[in-house]
Amino acid sequence: MKVLLTEEEIRDGVAELAYKINEVYGKEPVTIIGIMTGSIMLLADLIRVLNMPLRVGVIQTSSYRSGAVRSELYINASMLPDIENRDVLLIDDIFDTGHTLSGVVAAIRENRPRSIRSAVLLRKTGRQQVTMQPDFVTFEIPDEFVIGYGLDYCDEYRHLPFIGTLESSDLRSADSDQHA
Ligand code: 5GP
Ligand code: MG
Repeated sequence: MKVLLTEEEIRDGVAELAYKINEVYGKEPVTIIGIMTGSIMLLADLIRVLNMPLRVGVIQTSSYRSGAVRSELYINASMLPDIENRDVLLIDDIFDTGHTLSGVVAAIRENRPRSIRSAVLLRKTGRQQVTMQPDFVTFEIPDEFVIGYGLDYCDEYRHLPFIGTLESSDLRSADSDQHA
């Protein structure tokens, strides 16, 4: 495993992200929605350094992939708080193809919030397959599989305080695995 972003680099990045979010919303109340499970670390760190009144909720997604073929995105909105007429900020770990975040935005829109913005910790360069972009991107990273700070491989490594890349020798040979 190689370290791509240290704990300190992440802390500085999250502080900068919070500064930008504070500038956009000022003292207006915001409803923060974390996309489970990958956003847990960013969600917990970010909400402690934002200045406006906050409500916090979560939504869960999972997409099942078999090899390179992507299949359907499942969204579980049963824990979503009431967001009608609220300013919603979605938080996710990584913007890769973009299908997850654009699917969640479409689902959230049905609950008629006043506005929807999104913030991600990481964006993988050159991978996007959708036209939407997150409003806030903390770090741009190369196209490598990353783990730590919420991101998993087979549900492991989420607790690591840094972001690392797994080398092919660390990866299991399973041809079907779940990302969430
Ligand atoms: P997208 O729908 O943008 O392709 O992918 C978004 C989701 O796929 C992320 O929320 C994350 O759960 C998963 N994902 C994409 N790239 C990576 C990666 O490099 N590492 C890990 N652990 N998950 C990833
Ligand atoms: Mg995710």
